[in-house]
Amino acid sequence: LRIAVLRETAADEARVAATPETVKKLTALGATLAVERGAGLGAGIADSDYEQAGAQLGERAGVLAGAAIVLAVQAPDPATLAGTALGAWVIAAFDPFRRGDMVAAYAAVGLEALAMDWMPRITRAQSMDILSSQSNLAGYKAVLEAASAYGRAFPMMMTAAGTIPAARVFVMGVGVAGLQAIATARRLGAQVSATDVRSATKEQIQSLGAKPIFVEGVAGIEGEGTGGYAGETSEEYRRAQAELVAGHIAKQDIVITTALIPGRPAPRLVTDAQIATMRPGSVIVDLAVEAGGNVEGAVPGEVAERHGVRIIGHRNMPSRLAADASALFARNLHNFLAAFWDKEAGRPVLDAEIGDAIRLTRSGQVVNPRLSQ
Ligand code: NAD
Repeated sequence: LRIAVLRETAADEARVAATPETVKKLTALGATLAVERGAGLGAGIADSDYEQAGAQLGERAGVLAGAAIVLAVQAPDPATLAGTALGAWVIAAFDPFRRGDMVAAYAAVGLEALAMDWMPRITRAQSMDILSSQSNLAGYKAVLEAASAYGRAFPMMMTAAGTIPAARVFVMGVGVAGLQAIATARRLGAQVSATDVRSATKEQIQSLGAKPIFVEGVAGIEGEGTGGYAGETSEEYRRAQAELVAGHIAKQDIVITTALIPGRPAPRLVTDAQIATMRPGSVIVDLAVEAGGNVEGAVPGEVAERHGVRIIGHRNMPSRLAADASALFARNLHNFLAAFWDKEAGRPVLDAEIGDAIRLTRSGQVVNPRLSQ
């Protein structure tokens, strides 16, 4: 069975979907690995590293010829996948709700699109969950980006020349990225507070030594949706949340927003009027910027400035830690393939629970029920 590993072509994408470590492990399962030349350079992996791990190196067309499985970080345009076996699996992040046209194109060329970003949140799939592995790094990096753009220090420092107060960091959205952002800001010595619509996060915030900022006693407080994801909150809740946040934000030096709702635009959490109350020199990082943004005025791929406050809207934060992000992404893919590897068939065979959740297209059709709702 031939597995092709592609060089990413999207702008700002430095990650790669396989590393020498996972090439070795997949080869040990019985697969032949073919890696596109230069695929690992952005993540600090030379072609020769892949070769030493047992992969064949080649140009895209050669690598794809006869491949039954294609691995990528971001799903490539199917028009660039000519030569793959009919019905080949393409395993990558598809962002299916936002890229419906591309999903349809996958069906049209007879490829089977497997969206790793739709991995169900069940215990046995945790090791295959690219959203978690990448969000964790994004949360960490968001704090470092904020710290380096901030013209002051994070920790309190008592020096002979006087005392520097600790920075105040507010994290909005306490999922995987938010938790790591809290932990990182705490490690840097900041005074940290955080908020979420899921009340279960309150204890997690406290256990990291941060202060929870929560709306109390309003209907619709429990924003827990399916699979541990957030749902939409009531109008009354949103108003109460906005008021609470408005008072709190004025006293913050750094705001990190991470709030996402699957299948919907990101909720708007910070308005321009609130930004105007912050001290000039403050920094906001909007990790949801590519999903529509939590922060008014955030621009994807840019650092905007409003009222003297910098709003960092970097795209693809995990790619800024490409080596670690690739190592974890590649392990997620290996864990997935290994868990379903059928020795007799000499290839992976998916079960219904995970297969039906992540499979977008098959035999020329779009087959995922979430896409026909
Ligand atoms: P996410 O990236 O979808 O969203 C980030 C956070 O934003 C979430 O905590 C969400 O509640 C919050 N949010 C949404 N709307 C908001 C609003 N209006 N105001 C404030 N916050 C808002 O979430 P995630 O990081 O994917 O994590 C969601 C949950 O899933 C977590 O509890 C996480 O631990 C859990 N999880 C489980 C598994 C598993 O069991 N396999 C894997 C990963 C994550």
